[in-house]
Amino acid sequence: MSNMVRIAGIIGESIVDGPGIRFVVFAQGCKHNCPGCHNPQTHSFIGGKLVSIDSIIEEIKKNPLLDGVTLSGGEPFEQAEVLAELARKVKEMGLNVMTYTGYTFEELISESGKDKGWDKLLCETDILVDGRFEIDKKSLLLKFRGSSNQRIIDVKKSLAEKRPVILEL
Ligand code: SF4
Repeated sequence: MSNMVRIAGIIGESIVDGPGIRFVVFAQGCKHNCPGCHNPQTHSFIGGKLVSIDSIIEEIKKNPLLDGVTLSGGEPFEQAEVLAELARKVKEMGLNVMTYTGYTFEELISESGKDKGWDKLLCETDILVDGRFEIDKKSLLLKFRGSSNQRIIDVKKSLAEKRPVILEL
């Protein structure tokens, strides 16, 4: 399996991309084309840069204050297998993983046969923020979400209960 992931960029420390202090990886490549997307430069699958997940892990290790790592985009589930491996290493370090996706939780479950990485990335994710950005449901008051259709989901509970369980943050 390739150890390389195509990213649009990273933020070493963020308090707006999930609970606590987080390292954020922006995956490059997205097919959703949500009108009003704030990161259109992340849509191309040949843009950004290829980096090894080991180099990202080295960066994460440098900051002992981190609570977790957020996978954003772009669409992390277009590179699910390699990002699942990154997430697995992050969790080995005792950090939690939050993943943003334009797919819904239900789509990731029902269409998991499309990509063998989907199950893996879902299982390594603690908190999932799901659904496309819908500009008519946009609100600046929403914590960690762009539009009100998006949900903050407790993945472990949701997989156990076979329904999306909303996390109150
Ligand atoms: S899923 Fe995210 S990156 Fe992709 S088009 Fe929608 S808002 Fe933009």
